[in-house]
Amino acid sequence: MTSYKELGLVNTVELFKKAVKGGYAIPAYNFNNMEQMQAIIAACVETKSPVILQVSSGARKYANQTMLRYMAKGAVEYAKELGYNIPIVLHLDHGDTFELCQSCIEYGFSSVMIDGSSKPYDENVALTKKVCEFAHKQKDYVSVEGELGVLAGVEDDVAAEKSHYTKPEDVQDFVKKTGVDSLAISIGTSHGRMKFKPEQCTRTADGILIPPPLRFDILEEVEKRLPGFPIVLHGSSSVPIEYVKIINQFGGKLADSVGIPEEQLRKAAKSAVCKINIDSDGRLAMTAMIRKVFAEKPEEFDPRKYLGPARDELTKLYAHKNKDVLGSAGQA
Ligand SMILES: [Zn+2]
Repeated sequence: MTSYKELGLVNTVELFKKAVKGGYAIPAYNFNNMEQMQAIIAACVETKSPVILQVSSGARKYANQTMLRYMAKGAVEYAKELGYNIPIVLHLDHGDTFELCQSCIEYGFSSVMIDGSSKPYDENVALTKKVCEFAHKQKDYVSVEGELGVLAGVEDDVAAEKSHYTKPEDVQDFVKKTGVDSLAISIGTSHGRMKFKPEQCTRTADGILIPPPLRFDILEEVEKRLPGFPIVLHGSSSVPIEYVKIINQFGGKLADSVGIPEEQLRKAAKSAVCKINIDSDGRLAMTAMIRKVFAEKPEEFDPRKYLGPARDELTKLYAHKNKDVLGSAGQA
């Protein structure tokens, strides 16, 4: 049993309080390897932003739980070495069982998500409550994110055909019965790089897909019922067309990719939305740079020569998100 405080991490409680008041959102970036972690920390130190390092159960299998714990500790030390001690959260993304959440908490996570959103309402309540009770009774309080409503799309082990918007009439009851510290809701964001089917979108003259707008009316209803309560948006990549173009130009095949426009996320971040999850954009940035190096320098075989540029691009992308989209820059 390791407490996250021994690793130098913090939970989300204070961060979310400040974010709701300050009208910005904390970035939640997924990581599986060293280059991604370095990019996240470098960008957040550069922009003085708090950060949530997110690990999915798929990432945990890929990278190993012990490795991830020490990488998070490494992240804390790396930030200090870069010259600015930003608050860092280690968070389980889409925990699907009590046992997984418990194990992560025992391995030093400071925050977990229990996603019972695909289950019937009462089962979601019971499971989320059980995780909250365990997380909150730890010597060092571990924060818990729950979810109501279903996001479409595919993300690691999480896949749903169709989205179901969150029903605002459920949120008060859910928060009261479970004791969650934050709530992920479904207002039209979606997992993965194909957030909408082309027939749901309009197309610009040069063939770029424009998605339907987020349901800010649902968000407002939720805020009315839970004033000041931290709200989370999953599946909030913008899927930059420049990266998709580079990938396709250098041998990739990513047809009909479409994300959430950054202006809409900026608007959401100014509300009670205080955590925004971004994963696909990072994947696209890395893949674009690696494909470019492979195509332009086919003689290259030193991993540093293609992972290095990928890491640099990722750092740039995250700094941009903090400054121009989430508004978290300068808040650490
Ligand atoms: Zn998600």
